[in-house]
Order: sequence, then structure tokens, then C-alpha cells
Amino acid sequence: MNVPKSSVPRIVVIGGGFAGVSFIKKLRGQKVQIVLFDRHNYHTFQPLLYQVSTAGLEPDSIAYPLRKIFRKNLDFHFRLAEVEYIDTHNNTIDTSIGSLQYDYLIIATGTRTNFFGNASIAEYSMPMKTVPQALNIRSLILQNIEKADITVDQAERRQLLNFVIAGAGPTGVELAGALAEFRKGILENDYPQLEEEDMHVHLIEGQDRVLPPMSEKVSIKAQKFLENLGVQIHLETFISDYDGKTVTTKDGKKFDTATFIWAAGVTGAPVKGIDGEAMVKKANRYSVDQFNKIKGLKNIYALGDVALMTSEEYPKGHPQVAQPAIQQGKNLGKNFRKMLDGHKMEPFKYLDKGTMATVGRNKAVVDIGKMHFGGAFAWFLWMFVHLWFLVGFRNRVITFFNWTYSYINYDKAARLIIRPYKKSSPSLSKEKEPNTSSIFEA
Ligand SMILES: Cc1cc2nc3c(=O)[nH]c(=O)nc-3n(C[C@H](O)[C@H](O)[C@H](O)COP(=O)(O)OP(=O)(O)OC[C@H]3O[C@@H](n4cnc5c(N)ncnc54)[C@H](O)[C@@H]3O)c2cc1C
Repeated sequence: MNVPKSSVPRIVVIGGGFAGVSFIKKLRGQKVQIVLFDRHNYHTFQPLLYQVSTAGLEPDSIAYPLRKIFRKNLDFHFRLAEVEYIDTHNNTIDTSIGSLQYDYLIIATGTRTNFFGNASIAEYSMPMKTVPQALNIRSLILQNIEKADITVDQAERRQLLNFVIAGAGPTGVELAGALAEFRKGILENDYPQLEEEDMHVHLIEGQDRVLPPMSEKVSIKAQKFLENLGVQIHLETFISDYDGKTVTTKDGKKFDTATFIWAAGVTGAPVKGIDGEAMVKKANRYSVDQFNKIKGLKNIYALGDVALMTSEEYPKGHPQVAQPAIQQGKNLGKNFRKMLDGHKMEPFKYLDKGTMATVGRNKAVVDIGKMHFGGAFAWFLWMFVHLWFLVGFRNRVITFFNWTYSYINYDKAARLIIRPYKKSSPSLSKEKEPNTSSIFEA
């Protein structure tokens, strides 16, 4: 794979997400060689994927080339590849483009969608973990509305305009809010033969409230915001099946829908080769100590969503959100600098900066410490924080202009079916679990 031989320690990083990027940034100017592997050549800002799915933003506003982020790092090498296996005895990784030795290995592979073993849901629902998946959802939504506009069969029209979302965590809530706004601001204007009442947005949640990870106070507020937007919320409802046409719940409810979005859970995305005490099987996460080192291994570390570090305050590990990933990446980067200078490493301490979710135009909910609030101020705060954390000045500017434009015009500018989504197409369904080897075989 043409990585030059190194006389300084080689640090191999798997995953250019929040954790991997934060780690590498801290090592700029150090005497190490860094090789970053990712199956995409860009960093994805996952918190805004739902805006790509609902035509609010173009994908290039929320993705940023990994090579560009590290342009100024010396002895940095990016390789577009899937890492398939870790050989801990020989300090080697096997990838879709060959094998490579490491001195230190950093695993920051995040999570993948969890279908809880339901094969038909995995087959027919629309997951939203990657940019290609978000684009699939965007195409499917727009295609289904186009089809609804031309059909005279009422049952078919109902099915095409019924949008069902599984999971009322932040992703599900944000998606539901954005779809409800689409109905309000765009449906009747763009499709004069369709009426607002024809389109339904259903949000299904197993627990007894929306936004279960957040405080009860903001959860009640978010539910009210969603209901005012016309979202139909079904709590304490468990989905048992989806056959491509009808969502069935355990208590016997049925929702005919051509668009079923699965936002009901994730599980760790470890790489094969590490097992035993190093893995927390149930969560698919690596068990790490306070320095993010994987238990039982001497030169392998895990960061972010795929790492499980327990403490008194977090007996089940940190939440799988961006802040722990960023903070762990930074802490380990600093610790590597210390280690290279012969100093002791500092244990990781998580600083909870709060949680937020937006529920359509002008409305968001925020939990920060003991403060729990919702409404327009929370929405401005949400926008500011998301712009701040977006990678790249260009992306921030474009996103800011897009949001301002949409705010003034009640519009979603990216309503384009660039690449039609076909459920039966094997090449597209393969994108559910992307594999870069196809790029090289083509
Ligand atoms: C739809 C959605 C919305 C979210 N909204 C929020 C939010 O509002 N706020 C918040 O704080 N958090 C949110 N999160 C969670 C947040 O995005 C994650 O916690 C965060 O991305 C974790 O960072 P990470 O670096 O551990 O993993 P990721 O950011 O997931 O990065 C993992 C990287 O590893 C690569 N990779 C994985 N396996 C391999 C392999 N075998 N070979 C090569 N490359 C590999 C992937 O391509 C990816 O680039 C959201 C997540 C999703 C999916």
C-alpha cells in the first residue's frame, strides 16, 4: 500500500471520525509516522445527516476530505480502505488493500446500525449512519412523493405519503421535525395536487417518552413541539416487522408505508481479531482503561463510540455521542506527546457539556447541567454549536447561508433526486455496509 518505511514510531489509526481526527490533530509536529485508514475519504459530521436526508443541506456541507484536514501534518499518510483484521501477535492489520505493521494502533471505528437481529427490518428499512445512506433516504422520500402525485389509487397514495420513523432519540426526533416541516412548507407549494393532510409522519418509540436519554422536562417540551407540527407519536410501542410495505408492532398496530427509517439503535463497530476480556460482547465495544488502552493489550487503544470506559460516574461507559469521542481523542493525543517526551500519561476525565436536539424551525431543547430549556433560544444555541463543530470554514459558511435562506424562505434547497434509490439494486443495498474494496475492483 506504498506507505514509506519509518525510523520513528508508526501509529496506525482506524477511523477518521470525531475521535480519530481529534487524536491525530494533537500529534502535529511530533516525531511519529501516522497512517490513517477509513472506508470513506472524508470525515462525516453525523449530527447533521438528518438534514441531508430531508433535503435541508447538500452532503458536501457536512463532509470534509480527510487528506485536507491533515494537509499540514508531516509524515501523515491516508489510505482509503476497509480494515478487516487485527493480528495482535504480529502487530499487523489486514485491510482491503493489503497489510501493514504498526507500533501503536488506535481503533476509532465508531458504531454501526443495530437491527437487533431482525433480518427483514435490516433488509427493507432505511438506516442513516453514512452520507450515502442519507442520500438514499432523500431520494426515496422525494421519489415517493413524486409517485404519490401521479397515482389515483388512494391506498397507494396513503402508503407513499406515510413516513414512519423508528426510535425517538435525538436522530428520530430531528428527522420527524424536519419531515413535518417539509409537509408544512413545501408539499402544497411544489405539488398542488397533494394536500398537507395527505402526508403523515409517525414516530415510534419503545420507551414511555421521546428523547429518553435527555431530561424529562425537555422530553415533554419536545413531544409538544412535535405534536404541534403534526407528528403522530406512538410511545411504548415495539416494532416487530417490516416487509417493505407494512410496519407491524408487537401490540398488533399496522402502518402501511413505503418509507421506513430506522433510527432505533446502534452497536459498536469493532474490527475482527481482538476478543476475550478486551471486548464487552453485549455492546460490541472494546473494554478500555482510564488511558483508553484496551485491557490486556500493551500497544492498542480504542477511542470514542467503540470504546467502553467505566467509572464511578459512568458505570455503563460514556454515552455514544460526539463529545466523549472528541475529548478522548484529544486526551490520548496529549498523552502520546507526554509518552514520547518520557512523561506519565493523564487519565481521561469526561466533561459533560450537555445535550441538545432540534425539533424543527425555531425550536430545540437543551440539557446543560441543571438547566433544561426549550424554544427559540435553545434553537439558536443548537445552530451555533453545530456550526462551531462543523469541520472546515467552507462548510460552516455554506451551512450558515443555507440555514438563513431556508429560514427566510421556508424552503429546503436540496430537493434533488440525483441518484434514484432502488430497493432491489444489489449495488445500492450493499451501501448499507459500505466496503471500499469495490472501488478498487471496479
Ligand atoms: C444520525 C446520527 C446523528 C447523531 N447526532 C448526534 C448529535 O446530535 N450529537 C452528538 O453528540 N452525537 C450525535 N451522534 C453520535 C456521534 O456522531 C458519534 O458519537 C460520534 O460520531 C462518534 O465518533 P467516533 O469517532 O467514535 O466514530 P465515527 O464518527 O462514527 O467515526 C468512525 C469512522 O471509522 C470509519 N470506520 C469504521 N470501521 C472501519 C473499518 N473497519 N475500516 C475503515 N474505516 C472504518 C468510519 O467510516 C468512520 O469514518 C449522531 C450519530 C448519528 C448516526
